[in-house]
Amino acid sequence: MKATHDAWVGLGANLNDPRQQLLRAFEALEALPTTRLVARSPLYLSEPVSDIPQDDYINAVARLKTALEPLHLLDALQDIEQKHGRQRIAGVVNGPRTLDLDLLLYDDRIMDTSRLTLPHPRMTARRFVLQPMADIDPRQRIPGAGTVGALLANAPELRLQRLD
Ligand code: AMP
Repeated sequence: MKATHDAWVGLGANLNDPRQQLLRAFEALEALPTTRLVARSPLYLSEPVSDIPQDDYINAVARLKTALEPLHLLDALQDIEQKHGRQRIAGVVNGPRTLDLDLLLYDDRIMDTSRLTLPHPRMTARRFVLQPMADIDPRQRIPGAGTVGALLANAPELRLQRLD
């Protein structure tokens, strides 16, 4: 099957050697069936957006060409999270995590179901998502919101350090 859909995935981790978590996650994305990893952003160190004191995050984004439909891709992302031993404290939103994978964009699809919201609802104001997306393509459009570059110019300040 041809991998024709354009999907963007946000990666984040702040536990258990987060840099290594992300590098392994890129490998896992590369190995998904009917999917090609066409771009990966640099890694960034970012300040946690949370009331819970915790370590800084490592963040990045990946761009995929895939034949997987959105829910199958979400299944695959959640499977990778599980395999990386995602640790979460029950009921704590925005708590520390070994690996978090978000489906940011899938073509220009807009949907809002119990399992999947597209575009990802919080991506338009998060520098740790917008900056690595802009490194890949600042002209990328987010349906209903504008271009990545324009959103980044207006996003709230956040401590973000590029790692190379
Ligand atoms: P979180 O623990 O914050 O990563 O949220 C995971 C939950 O968000 C799962 O139950 C998903 O079904 C749901 N979800 C809704 N939209 C998305 C999306 N675009 N990407 C990833 N998870 C999503």
